[in-house]
Amino acid sequence: MLEKEINKRRTFGIISHPDAGKTTLTEKLLLFGGAIQKAGTVKRNKAEKTATSDFMEIEKQRGISVATSVMGFEYKDIKINILDTPGHKDFAEDTYRTLTAVDSVILVVDCVKGVEEQTRKLMQVCRMRHTPVIIFINKMDREGKDPFDLLEELEKELNISTRPLSWPIGIGHTFKGVYQLHKKSLNLYSPNKKEIADDVIAINDLNQPELDQMLGEHAAHKLREEAELIEEVAEPFDLGLYRSGYLAPVFFGSAINNFGVQELLDTFIEIAPTPQGREANLRQIEPQEAKFTGFVFKIHANLDPNHRDRIAFCRITSGTFLRNTFYYHTRLDKKLKFASPTSFMADNKSLVEEAYPGDVIGLYDAGNFKIGDTLTEGEKLQFLGIPSFSPEIFRELENTDPMKTKQLEKGINQLSDEGVAQLFTVNPGNRKIIGTVGELQFEVIQFRLKQEYGASCIFRPLNFSKSSWVSATTPAAMQQFLKAQASRIGYDKENRPVFFSSSQWDLEYTAKQFPEISFHDTSEWD
Ligand code: GDP
Repeated sequence: MLEKEINKRRTFGIISHPDAGKTTLTEKLLLFGGAIQKAGTVKRNKAEKTATSDFMEIEKQRGISVATSVMGFEYKDIKINILDTPGHKDFAEDTYRTLTAVDSVILVVDCVKGVEEQTRKLMQVCRMRHTPVIIFINKMDREGKDPFDLLEELEKELNISTRPLSWPIGIGHTFKGVYQLHKKSLNLYSPNKKEIADDVIAINDLNQPELDQMLGEHAAHKLREEAELIEEVAEPFDLGLYRSGYLAPVFFGSAINNFGVQELLDTFIEIAPTPQGREANLRQIEPQEAKFTGFVFKIHANLDPNHRDRIAFCRITSGTFLRNTFYYHTRLDKKLKFASPTSFMADNKSLVEEAYPGDVIGLYDAGNFKIGDTLTEGEKLQFLGIPSFSPEIFRELENTDPMKTKQLEKGINQLSDEGVAQLFTVNPGNRKIIGTVGELQFEVIQFRLKQEYGASCIFRPLNFSKSSWVSATTPAAMQQFLKAQASRIGYDKENRPVFFSSSQWDLEYTAKQFPEISFHDTSEWD
């Protein structure tokens, strides 16, 4: 029974540099799944403006995005869970954490722009975790780069092998469709924004003369040549290599025109991994285990001060989750039960009675959870693989209302539990350093501290650009390092020491001086 539920599920994320077409593709996938009836239903979960004064607008959009944080739907008897990731780079940490809860990703690339900054960063995270990736090259109706050049760029810049499974015929105004290399079928392109097109023609032999009539002699000739070339030079598609994150199958299409999306989805359900196990501190947890385990990877706060409740998003790793059943919160060593766990189906929320590995449920929370927390049926274990990443901007928090010191303390602790920013403490003096990936978070923190906790603060700039978690070959070496570098050492919320550096050069220079110390970009390392 459990096995059946597991095999039925695929949980994945769609990632892209902003504007490549993530929202559009998500919407088309939901259309195919029958989860929504018409285009325009999925709210854009993104912040277009970067002016800091717009952050309330962004938070509002994030509010909207609660409903679209997880979008579940059924397609050909498969339960598909799409985990949404914010595109705005200031929320990149949110995205990194969401990637810990997926089993695979679809990466959307704009054929005009190719690999962009966020594409690179997100793929780094996927590579780190060996997440299987399918690439969808979008906007083929635009005058984009040559497809061979695009593949080369992807391989070089993203450090992954690629294997086209479909091949475009023309591009931009000469775009005629795609040829499915494996299925040997041709999809002819007709711009169609709303409905689902099904102009699929089986082509058993690319040499058949009808092809010339359908595509024109020139395009048909080019397709024959290119298809032959791909078969010669491209690596064969190897499921194992895809599943272990080394080989990315590539599709071409145009999301807005609903083109190439169905082939993507059909192949996705065929090859994408079912819910996978996760590593915990004591052992590896497999989804088939009868006992429930899960972890919290995202917390969404309610901005309305009258409703302080938060939603903790929990990914189920093993067993069956049941409503109104006591589960063990391993960090707090306490039992909790949930009366109204929520599941998400496209734009609907509903009460969930039971949930299975791969599912994501929303748990209403009054402050028990922080990111990375583990729930079990009693075993005291902690899931790994939800590391913190080094922030990029560091500022010192200064209290400007001494009467509200306690509130400030509580507020900043809770906000960092939610993952809004990272909090480091520097001794002596209990100074607080806030690390973020974007300017926006400082505005958000200041505003929320005031609104929700009545506390006031300002931020002082610091000349740090990176925090590295440190380990040493011996405790004595660690002591010596911490003492020698005291002014640049802080402690994270788990009380692990971090070293602040001002540049890569600075870090490397220090590393040379202290050969017994290892510096880590994330809070978990091998
Ligand atoms: P996101 O930021 O990655 O979520 O991107 P969106 O889905 O919001 O798309 C960004 C813009 O590209 C929007 O104006 C879309 O209408 C447009 N777009 C998406 N897909 C296509 C496509 O296949 N062709 C063209 N020409 N435009 C597209």
